Amino acid sequence: MPVRIAILADVHSNFVALERILDHAEGGGKVDEVWAAGDLVGYGPEPSETIDALQRRNVFAVAGNHDLAACGQMGVEEFNDAAAEAALWTGTMLSDEEKEYLASLPLVAERGDFTLVHGSLRHPEWEYLLTTEQALVQFQLQSTKHSIIGHSHLPFWIEEQPDGPSMYPATDGTLLDLGTRRLIVNPGSAGQPRDGDPRVSYILYDDEASTMSFHRIEYDIVTTQQRMEAAGLSPWLVARLARGK
Ligand code: ZN
Repeated sequence: MPVRIAILADVHSNFVALERILDHAEGGGKVDEVWAAGDLVGYGPEPSETIDALQRRNVFAVAGNHDLAACGQMGVEEFNDAAAEAALWTGTMLSDEEKEYLASLPLVAERGDFTLVHGSLRHPEWEYLLTTEQALVQFQLQSTKHSIIGHSHLPFWIEEQPDGPSMYPATDGTLLDLGTRRLIVNPGSAGQPRDGDPRVSYILYDDEASTMSFHRIEYDIVTTQQRMEAAGLSPWLVARLARGK
């Protein structure tokens, strides 16, 4: 029985993008599970719709810094102005039940061979894991074979090798054979890409074949931007979606 898992991170209330990603994943066959490595909300215009769509798929999720800020578990002092404003706005849009759901998400969670964490195991809410030096620490702290991270909004993977970790950027169509080595994998952002490609990013994991395919998906950016403008969110946040930066 093959198991297909859609792996997402940093959806950031971009419901239009999320629906396109789920359509894409489900278009290729049954999706058995959806995993989300934090930041379900923040920045984008439809936090409730996003949470609802993920909950309906019984998402296996950890909390990111934006989730914690939106539900009041974390202050916004460390956020930049636009992010802080969006986090506070998100909090006003969520029902008590939705805030309780976000507050209930763990910072670290394990599933089979995988640990999910938003930033890193050293600093789950805040660390941008982007170097092989940081990866060494992550591999030491990682009790499962692999880990799935988010936070940087960049798709890549890092392999543990005898002479130290090596890092590889991923793009649309990249196929990662899990093989026998340990991995740290970032699926990129399903709602706010930052690598200059405005298409949203996710991974389809085939448990039987032991492969992960990275996908970049076009979506209706203008609709998300219009909904952000209608919500009064920062023009800078609106503009960056089209730049993918
Ligand atoms: Zn994020």
